Amino acid sequence: MSFVSHKGGCHCGAVRFEVDAPADLDVTECNCSICSKSGYLHLIVPKSRFRLLSGEDNLETYTFDTHEAKHLFCRKCGIKSFYILRSHPDGISVNVRCLDDSTITSINITPFDGRNWEANIDQLTPLSDD
Ligand SMILES: [Zn+2]
Repeated sequence: MSFVSHKGGCHCGAVRFEVDAPADLDVTECNCSICSKSGYLHLIVPKSRFRLLSGEDNLETYTFDTHEAKHLFCRKCGIKSFYILRSHPDGISVNVRCLDDSTITSINITPFDGRNWEANIDQLTPLSDD
């Protein structure tokens, strides 16, 4: 699979990152309590394909319930542009809505029933580096 470098970040521009992923993106739309309220679209990648370019000092962490997921948001503008998932603690979830669209060819959205997380988590593909 060939990757392009997508750039993205928060709304105010303090947090910027790069993520290596295909130009045709397969993303996950989760209906759990936090994803549905924020309209988050997940692109889940290994940490090795994610680089934080700026804004580390602007990141605030929010956790709830099991406190396994680390919801990182910009303390200035409040936007969660990426975070660390409960399902893939070795990975990063990038919010596709926060990517610059110039490098994206298409977005294919697959729903995930995160309201019933324990029953459905096996449906998410494990991370691989290829
Ligand atoms: Zn910001």
